[in-house]
Formats: sequence, C-alpha cells, structure tokens
Amino acid sequence: MQATPRRRLPAAFVVAGASLWMAGAGNAPLWRELQSLGLLEAQGGWLLALSLAGLLATVLYALLSLLAWRPVLKPVIIALLFASALGAHFMWTYHVVIDAAMATNTLQTDWHEVQDLVTPRLVLVLLVGAAVPSWLVWNAAVDHRPWRQQALRNLVGVAASLVLLVAMVLLSFQPLASTMRNHKELRYLLNPLNSLYALAQNAFGQQHAKGPVLPVGLDAKVVAGAGEKPRMLVLVLGETGRSGNFGLNGYARDTTPELSRLQAVSFPDAWSCGTSTAASVPCMFSPLGREGYLARAQDTESLVDVLQHAGLAVLWIDNQPGGCKGVCDRVPTVNTSVGDDPQLCPRGECRDEVLVRGLDERVAALPAERRRQGVVLVMHQMGSHGPAYAERSPPEFKRFLPECTSSHLPDCSGEQLRNAYDNTISYTDHVLAATIRWLQQRPDYDTAMLYVADHGESLGENNLYLHGLPYALAPDVQKHVPWITWLSPGFQQQIGVSAQCLRAHGAQHVTHDNLFHSVLGLMHVDTTVYRQALDVYTACDAA
Ligand SMILES: [Zn+2]
Repeated sequence: MQATPRRRLPAAFVVAGASLWMAGAGNAPLWRELQSLGLLEAQGGWLLALSLAGLLATVLYALLSLLAWRPVLKPVIIALLFASALGAHFMWTYHVVIDAAMATNTLQTDWHEVQDLVTPRLVLVLLVGAAVPSWLVWNAAVDHRPWRQQALRNLVGVAASLVLLVAMVLLSFQPLASTMRNHKELRYLLNPLNSLYALAQNAFGQQHAKGPVLPVGLDAKVVAGAGEKPRMLVLVLGETGRSGNFGLNGYARDTTPELSRLQAVSFPDAWSCGTSTAASVPCMFSPLGREGYLARAQDTESLVDVLQHAGLAVLWIDNQPGGCKGVCDRVPTVNTSVGDDPQLCPRGECRDEVLVRGLDERVAALPAERRRQGVVLVMHQMGSHGPAYAERSPPEFKRFLPECTSSHLPDCSGEQLRNAYDNTISYTDHVLAATIRWLQQRPDYDTAMLYVADHGESLGENNLYLHGLPYALAPDVQKHVPWITWLSPGFQQQIGVSAQCLRAHGAQHVTHDNLFHSVLGLMHVDTTVYRQALDVYTACDAA
C-alpha cells in the first residue's frame, strides 16, 4: 500500500511567505520612524507605508526567486530571517541604522562585546522573529522541480516581481521619492536590504583601498638639540569619549578631579573623523586627514610607522580585544585585554589600569638605540565602551549612583544612564592621572601625555543610543571628543610651549586631522609629510 504523499508547497509560496514576514514585521523600526516623523498621519501616509512594505517584499521575492534551488533556498531564507531579526532588534533598541561602517564594526565585534549586547529581549526577538519562522521553513515540504523546469519557474518569479516592482514605483513615485529625499536616513532602515547592501559595500566597494600599503615618511628623523634629554610621549587612544562629560571641559559634574590637580590642558573644541572605532582609528592615525582618508585610492602607513621610521622606540599597548584596526600592524604590540588578575581583570576582562602595569619592563624591553632617540607608547583604552557602561568602572569609581546596569539601555532612566557613563569618565580620569604620575618618575626623559578619544556617544538624547550613525546624520555628541594634553616642565621647556600658553589657546578648533602632525611635532620628528599648519602645539611656539 502506498502512503499518501505529503502535500508539497511550491517554492514560490515559501519565498512569498518569508518575503512578506521580513518586509512587514522585520521592519518595525522603519514603521516606528515613519510614525515619529509624522508621516503616517499625513495624507496618504498609510499608502506610503504600504508601498514601502510592498517594494521591500517584492525586492526580497525577486532575490529569493533567483535562489530557489533545493540546496540553497532554505539556508538562504534562514540566514536572512536571522539577519533581519538581529538588524530589527538593534535598530529598534538603540536607534542605530545599518550602513557600511556599521557592518564593518559588526564584523569586527569580538566575543566580549557580543556578551555585552545579549539581553533577554534579544533572545526573545530571535526566537519569535527568526527561530520560529526558520523552523517552519526548514520543515516545509517544498516542491522543487527538475532543474530546467525550476529555472523557468525561478525566472518567471523574478520577472513577475520586477513587473510588480515597476508598477508600484510608478504608482507611488511622488510621495516615495520626496520622502526618501527629505529623510535620507530612512534608506538605512530598509531591513534586511540595508545589511545586504552594507555587506556588499564592504566586500566590493572598498577594493580600491586594498593592495600594498604605501610607505609614509621614510625620510623621518628626530631633530634633537645638544644636551637635550630624549622625549617620551604616552598617546592614550580613548574609547567612546564625550567631550561634554569631562569636568575639565566645564561639565557641571567634576568627573576629572585628578587631571585638574595635575594641571592637564584640555581643548574643548575637538572633533572626530568618524563615529565608530573602525572608522575613526585608522583615519586619525592617517597622514591624509579625513577628506583624503575617505577618498584614498590606496591604504598608507600610519603615524606609528612614521615614528618608527624616525628611529623612535614605539610600542602599541592595546586593552581592546578588537585591537588597533590595522594601524599598528608594523610596530611592536601587546594586548592586555584578557588576564587573570582577580582585581584588574574581573571575569577575565581587564580594566584600563592594566595599561599602566609593568610599563618599566615594557620600555626596558625596547631596543636601547631607539630609546636613546625617544619613546612613544600608544595605549588603546577600553574607555567608555557601551552598552555595558557599568562594567567599565571598578566599584571605587562609582561616584554617581544609581547607575544603569542593563545592556538594554532604554530600560534605564536618563539619570541612571548618565551616572553609569560618568563613572567610566571618572575611571578614565584616574587611569590618565596614573599614566602622568608614572611619567613624572622617568628622570631619563622629558615626558608628555596626550589623550584623544576615537568618537563620542549618544546617551538617549532624541532616543539615540551608542554611536556609529552615518557622519552626516550623527548628532554632535557622537563626534565631539576630548583632547587632553599634559607636558612635564622639562618637556615644556624643550619645546618652548608652556601649559599656560596652551591653556590660552585652548579654544582653538581641533580635529583628528591634527593628530598626525601634532604628535610628529611633539616628538620633534622632521619629515616632508609633516605640516606645521596642522600641528596644534605650534600656536604657542611664537609666543
Ligand atoms: Zn570606539
């Protein structure tokens, strides 16, 4: 006796179901944005939303129809379902959007950062938004045909969806075009096409910037006066620093008491190159400046390479698991982010004070002939990396309470969020002060410290959280960064720049474009790539 054959669904049916689910439910953040822009209440608002959903579903249907082959269809749909649920969760929770820079950051995320982002809500969203529909898709009996027949069906599916697409665009062209023109950020919310587009841009779009790395400043050399001590600079690369939350910059809370006591000088008008670590770090160490960096045809060596060409002893100490984003590839590096010190490294993840540990031994291990020219230590902080701000500061620096302890930031009040963030700045204040105190004990060198953060952060202003919005759309708090300098008396004397004079020039507008040239100037490195006009410390030279 023959068993009744299980009813098989045409592939087109499964494709249509998945496309509609992703275009509709997967785009909750888009619908919320239309609502908050007042576009839904406007005349024809619902038609606009409906046509957006229709366009998304049709594009997804066309893409999936191309791939409606037995071995690939189910895995592709399931991957898209998870991508779309993940994207929807992050856009909904943190009000971020997904573009190429965000995709780069996501691809470079490491396990520790992932742990910070896992919340009960994320698990629920993945379960309902991706796992359940995936289970249905996986268990569906799909009626795949012999390949010729299937190819014909797939092509018909693609053609039909293209015709439908054109018809819908024509019907809703007016409102659609003007909405997309007036609210450019909306296109970064079109889930999951935004993720696919960003990934494609990452894979193919930036190939012009690959290939061999162009050498920079091979002619660099240190110009030292007779009898001068070698210089030592600790360049602290900050993480997620909001200029406005630093007491030194006039913040109502004194988050930086130790730096104030040490007479550190702040430039309160400093601006970042990008809004994320992956975008900012390579740019701020580049000789090209923001514009040149974004338009570059080829990657170049960085500031630390030039310092090394000049014969200086260079060491990059990294307390981020994600590392230096390629900037330190050709100089000696050490990563301190994982350790077993129960105090400094609770749960295996080390706090920033680890950067200041064992510095004497680290310096002593650098080549002696280079040390005689001078030393540059780059310390890459974990800083104020979110969303788990509370993890970034040890108990004794929790000066502002109660603080937000959830990674699901909208759960916290604005005050709790601000407290948790400000505690991370208090701790950074302490780490920087500890660095300065160590530098004060180096009699063989004239010493200096420069602290500049990679980008800022949104702490719930206009319901925005974290960072990484496209530069043109990002609010100032994501781009306005701290730039803090400390020079030992000997260093001030050697370069002819006093702290008082720097303070007097503190109002000058500085950006990451200035970093490359300012550090070369501080270390007295002479090279054709140095541009005095961009060296922020020369303003005092003439004085
Ligand atoms: Zn960063």
